Amino acid sequence: MTRQRTVGRNERCPCGSGKKFKQCCEAKTQGLDRKSRVLLVALASIVAAAILLGIASVARNGGSDGTGPRQVWSPEHGHYHTIP
Ligand SMILES: [Zn+2]
Ligand SMILES: [Zn+2]
Repeated sequence: MTRQRTVGRNERCPCGSGKKFKQCCEAKTQGLDRKSRVLLVALASIVAAAILLGIASVARNGGSDGTGPRQVWSPEHGHYHTIP
């Protein structure tokens, strides 16, 4: 098993570009990390909004006379369950 050696930020980048690591691949990987983190946050807020919308629609359904099938959101399944 080989362990990857950590590259100093002021050393030449191991990719062979001749630039310093901090100006080459380190910046690239950090950029990717930041982008994926933003993507995750965006995804999480979309999911949160979807869940909030689901709760709101369930509350609206529950406001009926209480007879007939009801739709209940199941977070585990990610869809509505129709309860007779
Ligand atoms: Zn590089
Ligand atoms: Zn289900």
